[in-house]
Amino acid sequence: MILTYKIKHEKDFSKELDMAIKIAEYAVSNKDKLSTKYIAHLGLKAVIANQILRKYGRNWKAKAIKSVKLTIPNQGIKYTSGIINIPSLKLFIPFNKSFQKINQIEIDKVFVYISITVSEPPIIKIKTHIGVDLNTTGHCALAAIKETGKVYRFGKKAEHIHKKYKIIRKNLQKKGLYGVVKKIKNRESRIVRDLNHKISRSIISLAVKKKGGIQMEKLQGIRDNKKHRKSFKYALNSWSFYQLAKFIEYKALLAGIPVTYIEPAYTSKCCSRCGQIGERNDKYFKCPCGHVEHADVNAAFNIAFLSPGIVQLQKEKSFLQAESDTRQKATQRSYATLEPHWL
Ligand SMILES: [Zn+2]
Repeated sequence: MILTYKIKHEKDFSKELDMAIKIAEYAVSNKDKLSTKYIAHLGLKAVIANQILRKYGRNWKAKAIKSVKLTIPNQGIKYTSGIINIPSLKLFIPFNKSFQKINQIEIDKVFVYISITVSEPPIIKIKTHIGVDLNTTGHCALAAIKETGKVYRFGKKAEHIHKKYKIIRKNLQKKGLYGVVKKIKNRESRIVRDLNHKISRSIISLAVKKKGGIQMEKLQGIRDNKKHRKSFKYALNSWSFYQLAKFIEYKALLAGIPVTYIEPAYTSKCCSRCGQIGERNDKYFKCPCGHVEHADVNAAFNIAFLSPGIVQLQKEKSFLQAESDTRQKATQRSYATLEPHWL
């Protein structure tokens, strides 16, 4: 599995980044002359210049050249006892993660993006099925174990984090302090990100402890459900739940926990006891069979029980790619972290 870590570098690379833009511009308009000898006079180290030439020489749209990153390939990176060394930039980065290989490192004004390949343990033999419902009333996630009937709730704090920051933002906007608004937004997404890491870690520990496979709703359901966008379910930006799902996914892979997806269509409409279509009154789900339960709990059990049309993680790749732009926007708002910032 490939993970990318994002870390602040605290160094001024503006000179090198300016050179990188010039090289990218050169590459876009001189596709037939992609050799470092033509751009050597700019002064950027060949190991980095070559990467930029190759990247932008390939069908890159000219208008995309706004923020060119310095790209350092594996050959330009040294690693000894917890320290990454990039000789061409005289840059040392403490990095205490185990990996098979550092694929490449990208650098922009503020961050270093370290892409590593890590080994995936074999998938465990599961004994239980855990349905995980994201974005439930009052909690970020709710897990239900099919075999024991137990329910676990995660992330109660998120709702008031969002409310608190919404009020702060509104006040700042009224005063016209837009620069501060951006800072506050960054802080909020950093807090939500940390919380998402914490929640996903707890869910994975539960799965490891119970030897449970995780089942979630297909991610599109979270993002594209326009009907609910204005309801409480969407009080938090849907990208933060997308982020949470992604965190659960990669942490599960690292722990050998299988993750499967189900179609979200019926999870809130069907009775988790008998499968009939029931009614939702406020927070409660009521079935013709007489079963009454908290609507979110009913949904989580449905997620745990349903198994048709399982979408394997691998098959989600195309979807992942389609979403990558949005996710990048979301991750750009966050601060340095030693957790992988996306899959
Ligand atoms: Zn029923």
